[in-house]
Amino acid sequence: MALIEVKNLTKIYRDNEIETIGLDNINLKIEKGEFVAVTGPSGSGKSTLLQVLGCLDRPTRGQYLIEGRPLDNYSDDELAHIRNRMMGFVFQAFNLLPRLSVLDNVKLPLIYSGVREPKRTEIAKKMIDLVGLTPRSDYIASRLSGGQKQRVAVARALINDPKVIFADEPTGNLDSKSGEVVLDFFQKLNDQGHTIVVVTHESYVAQSAKRIIHVKDGKISSDELVKDRRIIGKDGLIK
Ligand code: ADP
Ligand code: MG
Repeated sequence: MALIEVKNLTKIYRDNEIETIGLDNINLKIEKGEFVAVTGPSGSGKSTLLQVLGCLDRPTRGQYLIEGRPLDNYSDDELAHIRNRMMGFVFQAFNLLPRLSVLDNVKLPLIYSGVREPKRTEIAKKMIDLVGLTPRSDYIASRLSGGQKQRVAVARALINDPKVIFADEPTGNLDSKSGEVVLDFFQKLNDQGHTIVVVTHESYVAQSAKRIIHVKDGKISSDELVKDRRIIGKDGLIK
């Protein structure tokens, strides 16, 4: 059974009288353990696809199944629960709470999932350690460099041990070295069995995935396995 399956997925945005097609009849299966890159030109529907796959937005038409369960009739609260329990998110703009510390940012999803202190701090510290930011644990998020912010976002995305991590242009605001460090985390997480779906228009990011889905005008124009996969080392060097 696929981790995620969508059938005839269509998303139409309506702004006043204007209709824009975000997604046009997409059929797609993502299996557990995959590492998928979604590429395509600006405005092609990449972010829309990620948002619908990540239950951050609902499709206009079509079916969405997670582990075989259709989510069509789920309430917003039930979808939030699915997101919190099964999904982690990383965005181009980091989406941290700038005035909170690294530790408090990473802890945030645990509050929603009802984990109490001191367990919350204990788990968050483990994740911060995993991304190498223990010395920055008490820093205010806004004081960090872009690369450090994205590592905090990765730690936060991992805090509930999600089955799938969705990332939208996670390297878009980073220098190439910091971008490779983030990609290295994704590859390691994928090696550990996490499913990764990453939207990118950078070919070096796409080439580090196992499968590339190309989107154009809201449709899937190609869907291929990566032959010459680019494995990135801990130091950001190609192995
Ligand atoms: P990409 O991420 O590939 O650049 P998007 O998924 O953001 O593309 O956008 C796909 C299409 O949907 C574009 O034409 C965009 O203008 C439109 N779109 C995206 N979000 C909205 C929205 N909230 N309201 C109206 N149109 C939108
Ligand atoms: Mg986008």
